[in-house]
Parts: sequence; C-alpha cells; structure tokens
Amino acid sequence: MNFDLTPEQDQLRDAVRELGRRYGHSYFVSKARAGEHTTELWHEAGRLGYLGVNIPTEYGGGGGGITDLAIVCEELAAAGCPLLLLVVSPAIAATVINKHGTEEQRKKHLPGLADGSQKIVFAITEPDAGSNFHRLATVARRDGDDWLLSGRKIYISGVDEAGHVLVVARTEDSSTGKLKPALFLVPTDAPGLEKSKLDMEILSPENQFLLFLDDVRLPADALVGESLDAGLPALFAGLNPERITVAAMGAGTGRYAIEKASDYTSTRTVWAGRSIGSHQGVSHPLAHAAVQVELARLMIHKAATLYDAGRDLEAGISGNMAKYAAGEAAALAVDTAVQALGGAGMTTEYGVATLLGAVRAGRIAPVSREMILNFVAQHVLGQDKSY
Ligand SMILES: Cc1cc2nc3c(=O)[nH]c(=O)nc-3n(C[C@H](O)[C@H](O)[C@H](O)COP(=O)(O)OP(=O)(O)OC[C@H]3O[C@@H](n4cnc5c(N)ncnc54)[C@H](O)[C@@H]3O)c2cc1C
Repeated sequence: MNFDLTPEQDQLRDAVRELGRRYGHSYFVSKARAGEHTTELWHEAGRLGYLGVNIPTEYGGGGGGITDLAIVCEELAAAGCPLLLLVVSPAIAATVINKHGTEEQRKKHLPGLADGSQKIVFAITEPDAGSNFHRLATVARRDGDDWLLSGRKIYISGVDEAGHVLVVARTEDSSTGKLKPALFLVPTDAPGLEKSKLDMEILSPENQFLLFLDDVRLPADALVGESLDAGLPALFAGLNPERITVAAMGAGTGRYAIEKASDYTSTRTVWAGRSIGSHQGVSHPLAHAAVQVELARLMIHKAATLYDAGRDLEAGISGNMAKYAAGEAAALAVDTAVQALGGAGMTTEYGVATLLGAVRAGRIAPVSREMILNFVAQHVLGQDKSY
C-alpha cells in the first residue's frame, strides 16, 4: 500500500495551495456577499492547468486522474475557497463526456473545460423525485432528427456561469416501458429553458437554480454518446468522480477550519497567562475533529487510487464512504472551530461561521448521508432494501 503522492502530485498540491492562499477565504466571502463569482480564481486556475488535470492531453488537459483533481479541490478548500463547480464541471461533466461522449463532443467541449473558459453544470435532481432517481419525470421525445425535452430540475448549481447544462432525462424503453436515462448537452440559452435562482442559506459565490424545460428543441448530436444505450453508463460514470471530489472539498474545508481554530486557541489567553488551547475542553474537540478529517482523507485517497486504477466497483464503495466521512468531518470541524473561537467564531472577520451553511449542505448534497448509509447497508452488509 502506498500513501505517497507522486512528485508531480506533490508539486501540484503545493502550487494549488499557493494559488488558493493568494486569494483566500476573504476573497471567497467578498464575492459571495457581492453576488459575484470567483471568476478571477477560476480563470487563473484554468490558465495554470489545474481545472483540466483529469482531462486527456489530446483535449488540452493534464492527462492525470481523479486523484489529481481531488488534490485541486482539497487544496483550494483548505485555503478557504471551496468551489462546488469543480465537482460539477471538471469532475462530473468532463468525465461523462470523455468516457461516453462522441469524438465530436470531446473535441467541442473538453478543451474549454480544461482551460476554464467553459463550464458545464449537471442537472439530475427534480422536485418530485429527489433522492429517487427512478422517478425522474424530465422526458426526451423524438421529433424527426431532433429531441424535445420537457420537465423541471431543482437545486442546479452554477447555471448562470455555464455554457451548457448536462441534463439527465428519461426516454421510454420500448421493450420494458421502464426508465432509460439519457443525457443531453443543453445550451443554457436554449429557447424553452428558463432558470429561476433559489434563495439558499449558504454563503457562496455559486448559486442554485430551478430549471424549467418546455419543449426545448435539441439537435440529434446533443444526446451524449452515439446512441441511447450510452445513457446509463454515462450517468454512472459521473458518480465516483463526484463523490471523491466533493469529499476532497469537504476534507479541505475541515482542514481550513481546524487550522484557523488552532491558530486562534494557541495564542488567545483569558486565564492567567495560558492559552485557551491548553484547556483540554478546547483542544480535545479540535483534536477529535482533526482525526475525523484525516480518516476521511485516507478514504478519499483510497477511493481515488482505486478509481484511477480502473477498479470502479471498489471505488464506488470507497467513494461513498469517503463522501460520508468527509461530509460528517467537515461539519464537525467547522462547528468545533466556531465553538473554539467563542464570539470571534461568529464574526465574518475570522472566517469560520461563514462556512456553516456550506458544510451543512455537504451532508445532504450531492448525495445525502442517509442514501449513502442505504448503499453501504445493501451493497456491503447485504441488507434488504426498504424502499
Ligand atoms: C447546495 C446544493 C447544491 C446542489 N447542486 C445540485 C446540482 O448541481 N445538480 C443536481 O442535480 N442536484 C443538486 N443538488 C440537489 C441534491 O443532490 C439533492 O438535494 C439531494 O440529492 C437530496 O435530494 P432532495 O433534496 O430532494 O431530498 P429528498 O430526496 O426529498 O430527501 C429528504 C430527506 O429524506 C432522506 N431520505 C430520502 N429517501 C430516503 C430513504 N430511502 N432512506 C433514508 N432516508 C431517505 C434524505 O436523505 C433527506 O435527508 C444540490 C443540493 C444542494 C443543497
């Protein structure tokens, strides 16, 4: 078992950390408060090649794997810049297009995703389906060579920043009548596609939207892949990269919070010349959170390594466990850090409570902790499904 990153990955980690620190959490918060996006950071990361680390070199990427992208996600979050669109655009969309798109789609979309000039967001969640994707009601119908898409999607991140939305729709399987998923690359300015921004209690420069698709007309080549048979594998292709990178973002956020708190508690003195960190009532919860974050990082590393080795089934189990562990650890770390900072923890200046909403959401999205526990209960423990 090897716990070392390659020298190139070590360099990537150091370079992304340096970039993240140059922007920092106050930049992230000021953009969120102004209703703006982290455009400068995104473009600089793209120019430096960090957004395309997992995209093949022939399409302008770095030719690495999800381990590399997880490093980018974790280090930016550890610098106070947890960018959810890294999970959506380079992790999900680029993987789906690279693995299951047509050669035309790869040539058209991957270079822009790699250099950061384009973003593709991902829309699967629906108001009446939620965690139950078998109930997806967004329907794709044939109209000559074209497709017509109708339905509703909810909580879709980053639609206002993206050129395309990768929409998961259903077509009817003529033989079984059951759901047959199909993925479509829908331009965000397509006639019939309307978006409405949701008010979320998350301080973030990235927004969530309700999407309405009313007979959105798409050409035949908007369908991801050569045929409808590409739909199911394409949908599954995005899951492991999503779980692993969102977990990395959570672990980075946890590291950020613990570092902030440790800096504070080692210097803050309110009793007879001793730092508050000398009191175990303060230091043990922080140490406990640090252990949880490090355990999550181990599982992220395992999942990413398995995924990059092509061991998808094992990566599915580890990726889900990593996402669960990191989601819990990040929420614990931020809450513990707020407590350790006392009143300062609730100020904007100290930059910790600003992450409460984001880490809380990390226990719900992109897959909830309960659905991961269901997955583990069924696939690892062999339990029957209750739903
Ligand atoms: C900040 C944010 C960003 C998001 N971005 C995107 C995006 O870009 N694209 C996208 O498609 N979606 C996105 N989502 C949606 C997210 O993936 C869903 O919120 C999530 O999958 C849960 O679905 P739901 O909200 O409908 O909850 P529901 O399915 O209604 O579930 C509600 C609660 O019930 C629990 N529950 C449901 N079924 C079971 C069961 N069988 N057993 C045990 N517990 C159960 C759930 O765990 C949850 O706690 C985002 C959500 C958030 C909060």
